[in-house]
Amino acid sequence: MAAPGFPLGRRAVGWNQNQGVGMRRVLVVGGGSAGWLTACVLAAELGGPDGVKVALVESPDVPTIGVGEGTWPSMRDTLRGIGIGESEFMRDCDAAFKQGSKFVAWADADPAQQYYHPFALPHGYTECNLAAGWAARGGREGYADLVSAQPAVCESGLGPKQFATPEYAAVANYGYHLDAAKLGLLLRRHAIERLGVRHISDHVEEVIAREDGGIAALRTRTHGLLEADLFIDCTGLRALLIGQHFQVPKIDCGEVLFNDRALALQVDYASAQAPVACQTISTAQPHGWIWDIGLPTRRGLGHVYSSRDSSDDEAAARLLAYAERSGAAAVSLRGAPRQIRLEPGYRRDCWVHNCVAVGLAAGFVEPLEASSLVLVELAAASLAASFPTRREDMPLLARRFNEAFRYRWQRVIDFLKLHYAVSRREDSDYWRRHRDPASWTDALRELLPLWRRQPPSSHDFPRAQEIFPSASYQYVLYGMGQRPEPRGRRRSDEPERVEACFAEVSALRRRLLEGLPPHRELLDHIATRGLPRF
Ligand SMILES: Cc1cc2nc3c(=O)[nH]c(=O)nc-3n(C[C@H](O)[C@H](O)[C@H](O)COP(=O)(O)OP(=O)(O)OC[C@H]3O[C@@H](n4cnc5c(N)ncnc54)[C@H](O)[C@@H]3O)c2cc1C
Repeated sequence: MAAPGFPLGRRAVGWNQNQGVGMRRVLVVGGGSAGWLTACVLAAELGGPDGVKVALVESPDVPTIGVGEGTWPSMRDTLRGIGIGESEFMRDCDAAFKQGSKFVAWADADPAQQYYHPFALPHGYTECNLAAGWAARGGREGYADLVSAQPAVCESGLGPKQFATPEYAAVANYGYHLDAAKLGLLLRRHAIERLGVRHISDHVEEVIAREDGGIAALRTRTHGLLEADLFIDCTGLRALLIGQHFQVPKIDCGEVLFNDRALALQVDYASAQAPVACQTISTAQPHGWIWDIGLPTRRGLGHVYSSRDSSDDEAAARLLAYAERSGAAAVSLRGAPRQIRLEPGYRRDCWVHNCVAVGLAAGFVEPLEASSLVLVELAAASLAASFPTRREDMPLLARRFNEAFRYRWQRVIDFLKLHYAVSRREDSDYWRRHRDPASWTDALRELLPLWRRQPPSSHDFPRAQEIFPSASYQYVLYGMGQRPEPRGRRRSDEPERVEACFAEVSALRRRLLEGLPPHRELLDHIATRGLPRF
């Protein structure tokens, strides 16, 4: 059913449907992070005086979702690619560095049980079987602590680079924590002023369809008809084009990932000098988990939970208790938590006719491991790289795009479910249901028994561009307490080489702990002096 005020498309009159027509005009609908990122990537790659014309229409009446504060390291390439300097980005978006995620109380309900999923690949990962070497030591140290220096860097409150490290270069791999609203403003300014994107502030009211089923134009409240060759649906959870107009069904994953509510809250630091965490802290709760993200001027907290298992009041009480326990005095809480409803799932097809859905319109499962903006980056990069110059190329490109994104969404779901499936928490039905193989994905039902006998490897994930590599599975699986069973001797298990890798990690750790500045000092330095240009 079409939403009120957004009728299903009528047939357009006089639209030129000739095959072989060039693709010159892109209209992005929606001005959240997804819309502006996509517009910037397309304009930077395809724009220019004789290039593709990119316009973006956003409704003055519909706010952006206003959350989405954790990115992957890929954001560095995206920002550099669209021509935004890192110092400018960090100042304008109140951004901090993120070196990975720390998981607290996921394996069991004891808060002392913690592990890291750092952004750095395990040292020596492609050369030898580190998991076997870690298990041979009895698994006394945390797996991530043994194979990567990054957990120690985060625990010591250090940043991932030095004052003199150029923009976007890293000593330790990193992404960002940022203010989502400020990111939107920076991207908007950059797109309009430097990349020539036309900005239209208007509410889209109707889709005008072509004879062949594609979109001819969008009728807006005050600017009349907006025509284009390609329409990018970035209208968030409303999914005006892909959902309401084309009625593309969503693949629901609520039976696998149970969280369907989020409460978001901003809190102040106790003092302006308080340390800024360089990792997302994710603390498991009886019916979900709480995120804790440090920006230079405030923290962003949120509780993601299942409404079947927890009332909203109970979730809010847990979030406020967490805020106070973790150093945010009641007086510095910024307003009441804001509730967001989630319907975990993704569109079966994101590209239909001449419409491509990107961002929340394409799908959203849950914020664990911050995989949403990276999917936006991938979609925008893929569109820019294989932008259809002629309309007849679209069916092939659409089919490839849809296959790639169905695969990616499914791998995201597998990986997020892993965090829950191997937990030993017994404190609620929520965790018991997560552990029940009946709620697992097919891939996990197949692979988890195999991974008791051999470590996750790249052979389990055959695509060249995997969204979560096998190393990420190892970090979570072994962080959660699983141990690989001993197996017959293999050359890659060679203890001398594995031990040499562990020793190299120790040496690197010492160097980094001596050489990297405190995260807060690095952020202050960037705010006042900036980083050297790349
Ligand atoms: C609780 C939560 C936590 C999250 N955390 C993370 C995270 O840590 N990391 C991460 O990568 N992602 C995260 N995400 C996802 C992230 O927020 C989104 O991927 C990102 O913000 C992109 O949103 P969007 O641009 O698709 O939609 P929105 O921000 O909702 O933007 C929608 C746009 O569409 C416009 N619009 C709607 N209707 C119309 C109309 N009729 N006419 C014209 N314009 C219209 C609106 O005006 C708005 O500009 C999180 C999401 C949630 C819900």
